Amino acid sequence: MRYINVAVPVPIRQVFTYVFECESSREQTPLIGKRLVVPFGHREVVGVCVEENVTPDHAALTNNDSAKTTNDAKTTEVRKVIELLDHIPCFSSELLTIAYWLSDYYQHPLGDVIATMMPASLRKPAKLDDVQEDCLILVDSDEENDVLLSPKQKSLYSLISSNNNLMTVRDIKQHYSSRIIKALIDKDIARRISVSKPRINWQSFLQQASTNQSKHVATIEQSIAIAAIEQANSFSAFLLEGITGSGKTEVYLQVLEKVLSDHKQVLILVPEIGLTPQTVERFAQRFGDIVVSMHSGLTNQQRLAVWHQARRGDKGIFIGTRSSVFLPFHNLGMVIVDEEHDESYKQQDGLRYHARDLAIYRAKSLNIPIVMGSATPSLETLFNARTGKYHYLTMTKRTGGAVLPSQHLLNLNGLSLQSGIATGLLEKVQQQLELGNQVLFFVNRRGYAPALQCHQCGHVVECDGCGAPMTMHMSTNNLQCHRCGYANRIPNKCSECGSQELISHGIGTEKLEQFLDYYFSPYKSVRIDSDSVRSKQAFAMMLEDIHANKYQLLVGTQILSKGHHFPNVTLAIILNIDSLLFSGDYRAAERIGQLVTQLSGRAGRANKKGEVWLQTHQPGHPLLQDLLNNGYTHYSRSLLEERKAANLPPFSYLSLLRTETQVAEIGIEFLQYARSMLTQFSNATVIGPLPSLIEKKQRRYRYQLLIKCHSRKYLHAMFAQVLHELEKHKGANKIRWHLDMFPTDIS
Ligand SMILES: [Zn+2]
Ligand SMILES: [Zn+2]
Repeated sequence: MRYINVAVPVPIRQVFTYVFECESSREQTPLIGKRLVVPFGHREVVGVCVEENVTPDHAALTNNDSAKTTNDAKTTEVRKVIELLDHIPCFSSELLTIAYWLSDYYQHPLGDVIATMMPASLRKPAKLDDVQEDCLILVDSDEENDVLLSPKQKSLYSLISSNNNLMTVRDIKQHYSSRIIKALIDKDIARRISVSKPRINWQSFLQQASTNQSKHVATIEQSIAIAAIEQANSFSAFLLEGITGSGKTEVYLQVLEKVLSDHKQVLILVPEIGLTPQTVERFAQRFGDIVVSMHSGLTNQQRLAVWHQARRGDKGIFIGTRSSVFLPFHNLGMVIVDEEHDESYKQQDGLRYHARDLAIYRAKSLNIPIVMGSATPSLETLFNARTGKYHYLTMTKRTGGAVLPSQHLLNLNGLSLQSGIATGLLEKVQQQLELGNQVLFFVNRRGYAPALQCHQCGHVVECDGCGAPMTMHMSTNNLQCHRCGYANRIPNKCSECGSQELISHGIGTEKLEQFLDYYFSPYKSVRIDSDSVRSKQAFAMMLEDIHANKYQLLVGTQILSKGHHFPNVTLAIILNIDSLLFSGDYRAAERIGQLVTQLSGRAGRANKKGEVWLQTHQPGHPLLQDLLNNGYTHYSRSLLEERKAANLPPFSYLSLLRTETQVAEIGIEFLQYARSMLTQFSNATVIGPLPSLIEKKQRRYRYQLLIKCHSRKYLHAMFAQVLHELEKHKGANKIRWHLDMFPTDIS
């Protein structure tokens, strides 16, 4: 009888004991990391073995049987594993260590962590379909066998057992003859099985890369960064702070060549691959077929293929979004986190992990270098660089002699506006268009207008579930709630007074696009927001058309700030970011700095000097003054000082406990109960229960507790205790609540 502990995909903070005695139990190979089908309640689920040779304890059993979900009497019988799915572990010991770390760091149930780490196809009870290789596996680890073996056979036996009881026949044959292999099989000590085949053959691609004409001669700043990173042959974390256009990608391209030539793989995390097709293209141009990308547009089958390519070592460079950080690399040699400040690295539901932080942990445990690049580093990363935890590399010059655009504030107070743009700026736009250049407009809001109001009674159409004004969309002819996605047709009369005089308020991308098309005709405008950029192909085509100068006026949202090069843009106009200046989120100032700097970076890249105009009703605002006069480098350092004075992250740690309930009081009561426990810990400050910045969403009231502490360890220890108690609360299973250990968004 082999008792094992299995992590099953349920939101319960424990593992469950099963007995393993199915047919394949003849293989006495370790089960750790392998997927199994096990019974759970009335269901069958796919779990992963995390411990072997355990003694069944009572606690693990009572939850294991169906007593919880039925009225059956509790039995002490351990339930049996139904099927073993994997030959070789789906979770290597490295990945399992990561799973435990995530579970602990984010206080999230292990079974759910493991399910999150797997591609969807592996969460189903299907065996792995993989390229196979002939292997020898030890059948019996019984020591009595030793006496039956010759010294040579014994030596092979111990070699295989030191290799996790499994070796490829090809590897064995380098030291042992077929006769010895056969002897072990005949004596029933080893068996031949087929397992996944590693195939590494990157040589030709590397040769291609080193002679490739797309390779650039590095600038002095790039060379310094490259040399520093190349020297690291163990764990080192680098912050590469390089202004937009300083050529960070070229640094990545050159440093990973050395890693690949050591036959090691490279993981490149990017915020959103659909938005950066050029980046992937540049890597593919240089390194050819060993480059693979993983993004949200892939099917489950394609994702699984990438997973196999990582595990077998078929491919060398993996470019992917957040979840690529979980890939089972054969031999990872370096991690690069591009645009490390980007918020999309943080998962906002389920396992609320931060891919950058996990990447750092992974690099550390694999003892390999990690490079974090950004023109606008996050304050956490900057803090670590300033305290010497990370190596700090900087690039302050644009490549190819391009100059940074000049930045200006435009005081909107009292100025006449047309569709939100100051008339004076419209003249500047006209000038640039006549010179054959392109102009970029940033608007904070997609859709036509952020609100629809009745001119007679003042009624504003709101989303029933969220209580927020609905945004007008002309392209789809409906009203949309941007909080919950609810959509409705645009009414032709007021629901309160019946008047047909409905007027739109404010400006969205659609309205601006329409205005520009009309005002600057025959010049053409194009809209770049999540509505118009639905598919990767559509976006790639749009970019092509922009580069071919088919459009002269570019209108868009944040998407515009994400890494695109628009070499013909000589003027960028940022319409309205005043609302961000007054946000209740302490990270708002950091975000403004990143947004404005990144947007400015789009202008004037190819030897055409650019100009950026930021319209504001707050021209004297100290944040804007600092940002525009001194740049992000200075600005971010000032913000760090402010955070220090206010004792906010990264100078302290903040956790968020939130409820979302249809009756507000139920959530508040739950949080008050949590508060009563949390306040017993004297080293932490508990703020709340308070309504969240977004107080209502989808008919649920959102309340929160913020817990602030100087020590991350203390916070962990505290929640390890409190969550256990909190889950026993009568409401714990009935109401919607979650803990975000290190939130990036507290709205
Ligand atoms: Zn009305
Ligand atoms: Zn809504």
